[in-house]
Amino acid sequence: MAAQNGNNQAQDREELQSALHRLGLPPTYPQVILYRQSQCPGKGLGLKAARNIPRGTPILAEAELFWIAGTPDPPPVQASKPEFQALSCPVVPHTARARFAANNFEMGKSGRRMKRGIFVTASRFNHSCVPNAHFTWNAASKLLTIHAIVDITQGQEIFLNYHPKDYLKPAIERQQELRTSYSFVCGCPACQPNTDSKRASEARRQWMAGLNSIIGLNQNTHTQGQREQLLANIQFFGRQLQEERLFYPQLADVYGKEISWYRREIQLVINGAGRTRLLYKEEALKVATAKLDLDVVCSGHDSSEVRDTLRTIRELRQV
Ligand SMILES: [Zn+2]
Repeated sequence: MAAQNGNNQAQDREELQSALHRLGLPPTYPQVILYRQSQCPGKGLGLKAARNIPRGTPILAEAELFWIAGTPDPPPVQASKPEFQALSCPVVPHTARARFAANNFEMGKSGRRMKRGIFVTASRFNHSCVPNAHFTWNAASKLLTIHAIVDITQGQEIFLNYHPKDYLKPAIERQQELRTSYSFVCGCPACQPNTDSKRASEARRQWMAGLNSIIGLNQNTHTQGQREQLLANIQFFGRQLQEERLFYPQLADVYGKEISWYRREIQLVINGAGRTRLLYKEEALKVATAKLDLDVVCSGHDSSEVRDTLRTIRELRQV
């Protein structure tokens, strides 16, 4: 068992090294501040890239000021901290609950007892429905990390998506929720009124919402034709996400669905020359490798997302 574990770890390390090599990412980064605080038109203060930041670069790794779970109210001893008091509170009256609600980050998986924490620097990044950076709670390092998910050029503002699960809602609904929670009007390319970018985004997201329902309904279809249609829909959905520049976690989730499809369908086939091969194994590995690259870029090479995908790749290789 110990030998097997050692073997698995060596395989995972090798797989991860290949991913870093493919992506052109160094194993470690110089400890430099990659952002600076600036005035951003219409939004007050935001954080802009102090230099060019290539895709996959860790921009921030920050420990929490404090966390709470199972209650919306931070205890008075935490709420009185000057760093907490200095955070913006868009909702009146400026209660500790309102300030916490406008600034907290999830720490781990959803659930009633999920921790939510205050991260003083991370909370200064503004929102976009088409973000160029992604935040992850890293349970191993116990730090909130932020990675560039596309190349960011010097002077560009760095954006996070505050509501990544809302991406299939129309702009008017996203705007309403952001206004209620944070009191701002989103001016991102997917929300800016009377622009081609917004019109294209609205049409694409509406289309994706419909396709997403069809994919959900057809998860357990049985005829070969229906199963193949399900795969085609999943792949098309992934391409639409890429056009919309929604890479994480949305595209990674779709890759996960595609891998599951292949895993259900992997089977031994015999070709004309009497040789056997595993149908769909290579396809599954190809998508799992693409997912690994995306996980490394957006969540960091030491994230639990990367560990899970490395396990999937190992299991697929052993089929
Ligand atoms: Zn927006």
